[in-house]
Amino acid sequence: MNDTPTFSHDPGIARMVPFNESIFDTMTAAAARYDAINLGQGYPDHSGPESMLRIACEHITAGDNQYAPPRGVAELREAIAKERNERYGMALTADNVLVTVGATEAIAASVMGLVEPGQEVIVFEPYYDAYAASIALADATRVAVPLSFDSETGHWDIDAEALAAAVTDKTVAIIVNNPHNPSGSVFSASGLSALAEISIANDLWVIADEVYEHLIFDGHHTPIATLPGMRERTISISSAAKTLCVTGWKTGWAIAEPPLLNAVARAKQYLSFVGTTPTQPAIAYALNNEQDWIADMVRGLEERKDHLRAVLSEIGFKVYDSQGTYFLLVDVASKGFKDGIEFCMRLPEIAGVAAIPVAAFCDDPSRCATLVRFAFSKSEESLDEAARRLRQAFA
Ligand code: PMP
Ligand code: GLN
Repeated sequence: MNDTPTFSHDPGIARMVPFNESIFDTMTAAAARYDAINLGQGYPDHSGPESMLRIACEHITAGDNQYAPPRGVAELREAIAKERNERYGMALTADNVLVTVGATEAIAASVMGLVEPGQEVIVFEPYYDAYAASIALADATRVAVPLSFDSETGHWDIDAEALAAAVTDKTVAIIVNNPHNPSGSVFSASGLSALAEISIANDLWVIADEVYEHLIFDGHHTPIATLPGMRERTISISSAAKTLCVTGWKTGWAIAEPPLLNAVARAKQYLSFVGTTPTQPAIAYALNNEQDWIADMVRGLEERKDHLRAVLSEIGFKVYDSQGTYFLLVDVASKGFKDGIEFCMRLPEIAGVAAIPVAAFCDDPSRCATLVRFAFSKSEESLDEAARRLRQAFA
């Protein structure tokens, strides 16, 4: 007997209906179906520093397993403020920090805490999928502004003119992701200055998703909050996921001036109440004591990026270099493929490897139609095996 009730129509609210399974889940499921190497979803094959893992275990076995304080464990909030102060010359305290359930919740709480229904939020295209869903949850309107793309260098950047033209009297916030997923670009100083000028001139909030702040190989990270006039209008968001290789711990944070942070905390409180407790002191320890581990991890990541880039180029794909993140972009038109989505849907079956189409990050996929994102955050062995399979399928 089939107990599943049948519905005559989709019972979901209309504005959430387009948000079905994410592209990451679709491609990860396809990878599993064909036992493919998953160069689609961005996560590392290894965990963070030993000391951090041990401390989390100790906290669990010692009974530190009940609700955390509303803004997060004090030790972690202090460690986050201290790390930002040391890296970027800021002057933050624990009062500027809210611990969240991953950067994902920090993004959702920022949008839901600051944007009224019907107001407009600007995102830069290609944009990370969670932004669109958070804007829809808030019943706000997404306005996608294309990033500029230099097809010689593969560098994507903020296009000041396009951004200025997109601001209306309904715009309240801009979501910016730097270093940028999916392109791996780090935005230029002039691009960031233009963003600052436009947000100040139009009195906009800036929700700055900086989860890849440490994963940079070429250049350096400038938090938008450090530009003049930006600290009081920016929510900076980051996460232990990428910095400390614990995507499954779902521990992130939002950083802002207290009045702005209060608005985010209000929404966060009723999304999840608080984050996971025993991971927080462990992450605090790692931020305070494992900066060398992070630097080594980034060096290893760069080597793997260079390795994957060399393999893909040697096979004959046009590969754009990446300045940071976990990702490299490839133009599959260089091997005669006309559609990146179709390419990615078939790749697990034909090559035993999975990747992500950049069109999935776009409202207007035309410019990204043949671009495909490969994650190099995997082990050397996985990349070697992926290289072998890709050569066999395409060389
Ligand atoms: N923003 C971007 C740009 C990402 O790539 C990701 C995935 N790490 C997130 C946010 C989500 O981060 P978290 O896993 O901490 O929720
Ligand atoms: N941020 C990771 C990526 O871009 C994974 C995100 C996810 O699976 N939702 O691949």
